[in-house]
Amino acid sequence: MAPLPLSQRVWLQAMLAHGVVSQAHAKALQKRACEITRDDYQAGSLPTLLEEVGKHLSSVGLEIRQARDEFTGAHLIMIVNAKGDELAQVATTHSATEIAVTKKILERIFTNNDAYSLSSTEALKIGRQCKPPLGNAETEMLLSALVKEGWLRYNRDTGRYLLTSRSMMELNVYLKNAYPEHYFSCIMCEDPITNGVACSNAECRVRVHKHCQTSYERQIGISTREGQASTCRGCQHTWSPSPVGEASVQR
Ligand SMILES: [Zn+2]
Ligand SMILES: [Zn+2]
Repeated sequence: MAPLPLSQRVWLQAMLAHGVVSQAHAKALQKRACEITRDDYQAGSLPTLLEEVGKHLSSVGLEIRQARDEFTGAHLIMIVNAKGDELAQVATTHSATEIAVTKKILERIFTNNDAYSLSSTEALKIGRQCKPPLGNAETEMLLSALVKEGWLRYNRDTGRYLLTSRSMMELNVYLKNAYPEHYFSCIMCEDPITNGVACSNAECRVRVHKHCQTSYERQIGISTREGQASTCRGCQHTWSPSPVGEASVQR
């Protein structure tokens, strides 16, 4: 394989330094990399760049993953470990006890019914219950480190911890293998879903992101048959969505 042109290498370095990057930012970085290296910049050539760089990354076990933020709908791009089937990549700078607590916290967030979130009280309890235990102050420090590192998001309004787009992109394979019964894909975009709506029929696995809900409902004919009930594509029952994620928690 021919080596990547300098402008693409400069772009790749910038991407790795930034972690999760919005599509618009990735484009801006591409333009900047071309300017710095005096390479021609062509508007609209990001998909080609992603494909070219992606080919090179696969030989070292990395890949470019694209997803939409489940809360803002923003288009995101990130370079991740293609295998990504273990938690070792999380919290590598922490102690063994902290890694064990981190694992339990991530597990609890992902398997906490349909809440896909955890209150800080519950998180501290996990620390205390670990063997050896982690005190409240230490768990609090660990939690804020995980937020800073981009693995967790803390919602100040609800006092709950959630997974970030970064953790969903990096841990996708791990979560799918470890907790298949809690791993749902959006019926529209097929990306994993931890925030959105679900079909109220408990036996149906249809779930849709907030940013995919309108197109799903258009597809099953809600907007064209104003005021009339539509049927879910998965189970043919009346479509009456219930919340998935933090919104499903009774407060
Ligand atoms: Zn979706
Ligand atoms: Zn259904």
